[in-house]
Amino acid sequence: MIKIESYYVEEYHKSVPHVVKFSGGRSSGALLFSLLENGLLDADRGDVIVFNNTSAEHHKTYDFVMECKRRCESKYNIPFFLVEFQTYESCRNGTYDRFSTYKLVNNKPYSETNPNGYHSKGEIFEELISWQGYLPSLLSGRTCTKNMKMDTTVAFLNDWFAFKEFNVPVVRLGHFGESSRIDKNLLYEKHLRHGGSVPKEIYLEKKEYALNRHLFRSTQNFRDYTSVQIENKPLYTKKGIVEYCSLIGFRADEPLRLEKMKKRIDDKSNENISVAYLRDKNEHVYAPLVEYNVEQKDIKDFWDSREWDLGLPYDGSLGNCVYCFMKGATKLSSIQSNNDDITPENIDWWVRIEEKYQRDLKAEGREISTEENPFINFFGVGKKLSYSVIKEGSGLEANDDSLPCNCTD
Ligand code: SF4
Repeated sequence: MIKIESYYVEEYHKSVPHVVKFSGGRSSGALLFSLLENGLLDADRGDVIVFNNTSAEHHKTYDFVMECKRRCESKYNIPFFLVEFQTYESCRNGTYDRFSTYKLVNNKPYSETNPNGYHSKGEIFEELISWQGYLPSLLSGRTCTKNMKMDTTVAFLNDWFAFKEFNVPVVRLGHFGESSRIDKNLLYEKHLRHGGSVPKEIYLEKKEYALNRHLFRSTQNFRDYTSVQIENKPLYTKKGIVEYCSLIGFRADEPLRLEKMKKRIDDKSNENISVAYLRDKNEHVYAPLVEYNVEQKDIKDFWDSREWDLGLPYDGSLGNCVYCFMKGATKLSSIQSNNDDITPENIDWWVRIEEKYQRDLKAEGREISTEENPFINFFGVGKKLSYSVIKEGSGLEANDDSLPCNCTD
């Protein structure tokens, strides 16, 4: 057990709800169970664990997450929610379009007989890409992290903190029609109005996947997604808003991650910051493993002493989304896919998604600096690197922009 005691910069933080942002990795898991074993989480305070599912994780990560949820809820009685990004159709300003929200899912894989199960075949990731109409990339940024993790958590917490009673359902979102009400011509006009230049046929082809996803987000009850039977108490409020502590699993030997996150929180002009539920000073971010000087070797000792573990390599090559573009060409090309299905555990899924959703600057009539590669793919613009190049294994040496993923920041 990693000994963690108090880590609060202000004494009253101890009394506000604590949210453990669980990434599905070992450091995050070690933080969670150290907090639980040291008696530092309390369901009566409104504490909750959140895992954001991208549908692109390794199957061993899913096994690990479900085991963490089971142990956390059955032994320690703290609710642990699996949360996914979802879009739905609604009308705003007289026009139907798709909007984003979150959906709670249960601890079994999605199937026709378990429609509220978690997705693991890339469905959520593709829904996001199709909805926004372009790929997240080294150029346009980690819109995948922002939408599928940060904003989705904020949407979930808004409801979690708002409902004082555990059995009050979260409302249904979306219209009540049985088929899509979106006018594709109006959708394309909106794209043009916002400065877009993708030809209509290509644009609507990219939108097709999202347009065929769920029309609405159904009513949800928190109690249907956790085995913990608790009753939310009125929460600590300051000027009518809920303050909370976020607990993240950064380690002491990852100072750059912490610095980057601090900078983003301090930089109020950065629109991409969405850590601030209810804006500004309501979220107090803590990294207890940093406070207690916990490093990678301590995490290894922690899991070596347990009878269960994640079961993936310690080098991070298979953590988070299996073929995350932030991992760099060398690491990506070293991943061996043992999965014949075309899921995100298989590079063929990433090749297909990249080819379908990359921007073609030539088709858009944009000026291009290189005739050689007019695409904006996961790796940026004009680069020779793509998932298909990684799959072929040629010309990788000059293309290794290995960057830390930092996905849970
Ligand atoms: S792990 Fe990579 S691909 Fe997945 S959400 Fe994070 S940045 Fe995006």
